[in-house]
Amino acid sequence: MIRISDKSQCCGCTACMSICPAQCIIMRRDSEGFDYPMANPDLCISCGKCEDVCPMTHAKDAEGPVETLAARVPDYTENNPSGGVLPALAANVIDEGGLVYGAVMNPDMTVSHTDASDMQVVERMLGAEYVQSELYASFEEVRYELEAGRKVIFTGTPCQIAGLRAFIGHDVPELLLVDFACPGVPGPGLWEKYVKAIAPNHPARSRDSYVLLYQQNMTLRPSCYQCPFRKGSNGSDLTLAVLENAAETVPEFADSKSVTLIRVHSDKGRKSISAIGLPLKPVDPVLALRGNKALEGDIPVPERRDEFFKGIHSAKDIIKYMQGFVVKESIPAKIREAVRSLLTKN
Ligand SMILES: Cc1cc2nc3c(=O)[nH]c(=O)nc-3n(C[C@H](O)[C@H](O)[C@H](O)COP(=O)(O)OP(=O)(O)OC[C@H]3O[C@@H](n4cnc5c(N)ncnc54)[C@H](O)[C@@H]3O)c2cc1C
Ligand code: SF4
Ligand code: SF4
Ligand code: SF4
Repeated sequence: MIRISDKSQCCGCTACMSICPAQCIIMRRDSEGFDYPMANPDLCISCGKCEDVCPMTHAKDAEGPVETLAARVPDYTENNPSGGVLPALAANVIDEGGLVYGAVMNPDMTVSHTDASDMQVVERMLGAEYVQSELYASFEEVRYELEAGRKVIFTGTPCQIAGLRAFIGHDVPELLLVDFACPGVPGPGLWEKYVKAIAPNHPARSRDSYVLLYQQNMTLRPSCYQCPFRKGSNGSDLTLAVLENAAETVPEFADSKSVTLIRVHSDKGRKSISAIGLPLKPVDPVLALRGNKALEGDIPVPERRDEFFKGIHSAKDIIKYMQGFVVKESIPAKIREAVRSLLTKN
């Protein structure tokens, strides 16, 4: 029966909950606002499936990508928040009657995974949401759809992909797993607290502290600091990232507003990417990854992280409290803009 004694060893992927034949595992929110599995010993039949499926305890060594590509993408919509690769992949699978799973922001500003069988819903998935999305029963739904013979694209954090891959148990040709360069995620509990605090004063108050603390790694899930998955050992077919230094890495695309870096990990990934019809160029992987912290190395735990989470429950003014932990340094305008647009989406 699964027991979490060291929180850094649980990424919250829900694979254990989804596989439990006795349905005796629930995800419970902790005091830092992250969800962890909790099993009911009275219902447990000691089958051991929850422990066997856990991708954190069975993490493999990272394998290099089979190919590293840059994609030049056209603007997909007005105020496009996307690099455009995902909509192109999605359009192909939806044309064939398939489904796309990804994270959306709901009208109440919670973030969760949902399925899309049309491009309107896919559009709601585009762009990054700076919080761990809630998966609910997504893994069981994906299995059901695959068994019914449908094609599925599942997008999510590298650990969500690792969890789904372990839950499904083997490679399924109809399932394309797409993750992204992941620098870690804050928990839904903190996000909800923050959204509540800004709502009455929206939009006059400063909204930067959430993203600044995220950027400074203060609010990440414990498993994100030494993540075994984001370096490419989770079974995904494709990893998408922002190619920051396009002018240097792929001068042919330097005039493009948006260049997406694609790490291809499998033949299935290679086939699906060749079918999207976007201009692609192989790039030097070392050059392309230079400076992209989301794809390499561990993240040091900030000194004041424990203090931050301990004090937040008694803080009278959450925004002021959060601002008090921000290390003053110059933050790229792009990051601030990302959160501004995120908070005005709904
Ligand atoms: C929180 C976060 C931080 C990121 N930080 C970096 C970074 O530092 N460097 C970098 O190179 N790239 C980063 N990325 C990836 C980058 O923003 C793009 O998502 C990536 O290049 C994908 O390309 P795209 O534009 O085609 O897809 P997009 O249109 O961006 O689609 C993103 C996909 O990711 C999924 N998604 C979005 N938010 C979440 C979430 N919270 N949880 C699970 N799934 C989610 C959506 O379902 C969607 O399918 C980050 C992404 C996220 C979500
Ligand atoms: S051992 Fe089996 S029954 Fe018990 S919690 Fe784990 S998966 Fe569920
Ligand atoms: S399977 Fe996922 S949610 Fe369950 S213990 Fe392992 S990492 Fe945590
Ligand atoms: S860094 Fe990303 S992939 Fe790793 S545990 Fe955190 S959210 Fe999951």
